[in-house]
Amino acid sequence: MQNLRCWAEIDLAALERNLNKIRSALPEGIQYISVVKADAYGHGIHPTAARLMQTGVDLFAVANVKEAIDIREMGTGWPILILGPLLKEEDEAIIEYDLIPSLSNEEELTRFSKLAHAEGRSIEVHLKIDTGMGRMGCWWEHAPKLIDKVLSSKDIDLQGVLTHFPIPQDSEFTDQQRENFLSVIKPALIQNPDLLVHADNSSSLQTMHRNSPFNGIRVGLLQFGIAPPRDSALADIHVEPVLSFHSRLALVKDLPKGASISYGCEKILERDSRIGVIAAGYGDAIPLHCGGKAMALINQKSYPIVGRVTMDQTLIDLTDSENEPQAGEMVTFIGKQNNAHIGLSELAKHGNTIEWELLCSITKRVPRVYLTKRE
Ligand SMILES: *Cc1c(COP(=O)(O)O)cnc(C)c1O
Repeated sequence: MQNLRCWAEIDLAALERNLNKIRSALPEGIQYISVVKADAYGHGIHPTAARLMQTGVDLFAVANVKEAIDIREMGTGWPILILGPLLKEEDEAIIEYDLIPSLSNEEELTRFSKLAHAEGRSIEVHLKIDTGMGRMGCWWEHAPKLIDKVLSSKDIDLQGVLTHFPIPQDSEFTDQQRENFLSVIKPALIQNPDLLVHADNSSSLQTMHRNSPFNGIRVGLLQFGIAPPRDSALADIHVEPVLSFHSRLALVKDLPKGASISYGCEKILERDSRIGVIAAGYGDAIPLHCGGKAMALINQKSYPIVGRVTMDQTLIDLTDSENEPQAGEMVTFIGKQNNAHIGLSELAKHGNTIEWELLCSITKRVPRVYLTKRE
């Protein structure tokens, strides 16, 4: 990393270990749907999906057609589910790249049926049912009519049904969602007992009991090693972070008490200070407002970030250092330096954001460095 100013290191062996751990914690027969939208949560779709393919997933799920094509071009062995709605101009890609759309309404049913008919084949779909997310899917009370139509269509091959949980920590709300969902999908299950039935994501992983109709989970964040909430069914499997984020100290300088720091002069030095200038800012991924709260590691010691983060640089207070960090040294915002550690969740919290958004905010300017060793 000698010539890098700022980089994200992606440990593919950790991804592999996480996947294996999650899979072995699941009851038998549960399909693992690996969610790799948004460039595999910022980890880079190609190396990430390749390792997931080698380790073994049952399906991939992405947000849109473009992401689905990215995976399909790597190989043909995996079903690819598109979680988001398709624009009608994108429908052709279902055929060309052999993709599985999520279906929400009759208009889509008509579109997909026509397309299938014109091609002389059927189209596989997963039917999405809205039980409280208010986003995709057919509202559950309206779903029986749509399900009927899907089941009686020769052009449409119903492979799966899904819903989504907006507030899994509220078990009462979520249980009600499960109940409403299961009550309306009954006819589909009778017609096809092998239907893939899925709802849980990383923060709502319930161990699925035997005889539960749920037989799939959609795992995104958890496989990248961000721990689920403590009350989740898989909270004690100890996944490891896959991504770490580093930069370098580019400049060290002394400033007198009373000097102001960064835009807005929100920080005024209360003592003579040594300030370090780090070669990464919000133009890379450092949250704009984490100054005064977040820390960064140099030589296994943590130092406070001070003042407003700028586009290209972040300032750090080195006054209390024992070993006088020098320009050129590595700075870790997310990850480990021996026993010292800063979690992605910690930086996200101090930046007033969530883990998912922080990962998505790692920009193109940040090279991804892959550790490719296999287990
Ligand atoms: C992103 C997404 C997931 C994965 O969620 P995680 O919390 O990252 O595991 C699952 N289902 C849908 C519909 C999604 O959009």
